[in-house]
Amino acid sequence: MNNLKLVARANDHRTTIIVGNVRFGDGFVIIAGPCSVESEEQTLETACAVKAAGADMLRGGVFKPRTSPYSFQGLGLNGLKILAKARELTGLPFVTEVLDTRDVSWVAEFADMLQIGARNMQNFSLLKEIGKSYRPVLLKRGMFSTIEEWLNCAEYIMNEGNSSVVLCERGIRTFETYTRNTLDLSAVPALKELTHLPVITDPTHGTGRVSLIQSMSLASAAAGSDGLMVEVHRNPKEAMSDKDQALTPEQFSSIVHKVRSLTTYLSGGS
Ligand code: PEP
Ligand code: MN
Repeated sequence: MNNLKLVARANDHRTTIIVGNVRFGDGFVIIAGPCSVESEEQTLETACAVKAAGADMLRGGVFKPRTSPYSFQGLGLNGLKILAKARELTGLPFVTEVLDTRDVSWVAEFADMLQIGARNMQNFSLLKEIGKSYRPVLLKRGMFSTIEEWLNCAEYIMNEGNSSVVLCERGIRTFETYTRNTLDLSAVPALKELTHLPVITDPTHGTGRVSLIQSMSLASAAAGSDGLMVEVHRNPKEAMSDKDQALTPEQFSSIVHKVRSLTTYLSGGS
């Protein structure tokens, strides 16, 4: 792969990306929270539950890239204020998606990390704008993108001066329909060969099925992922987006327990 001047792994050096008290690339980072911020009560309750279960970081969308324009689009600024309150309450830093170049600088004043979603991975104006931000970036893989295209998008961000990029494998479209996407776990060790940047996975969007999330979380850790992002809702049946793939706090807690045991074992601990 040519032209990956900043993203390519030159030697054994691995980059650690720091977000608040969280270190991507140094230990296993678990990000959890609702697909969407729906209300203060729902977000604070979920944030406390994921914190108690052992999450390192909170997630929540306030601008939602929905397939239909009639679906819930997110709470915008009010949602960010709710996430800031959740951070204050739990101590968890949060990541949230930005959809529009006009929102990058003011959202960066609230969020600890900015997410570029799958549908915007190759939105080059957005990549350049986020590259000028001082906030770390979670760059999701486009659902139709190759690893090389994805790494070039990280290069766009870094080329503008922002070198804090974490990659997130969230599944790609294949001919399979049982799962929402096909979580490409081979991308994890492949990226470890190609780049010094940390890599995490999103088994929630990667499978779209609650029943598969635990297995794919464990498999992600075994494949060498630096962390996980999963969706958790206090009452999944009531979720305003992605309700079929949201974990309950109890399911999440059980997954964290198993994943932490595995990562401890893999790192040679007891
Ligand atoms: C999300 O994480 O909320 C999301 C919309 O994910 P993706 O961009 O991977 O579909
Ligand atoms: Mn979602």
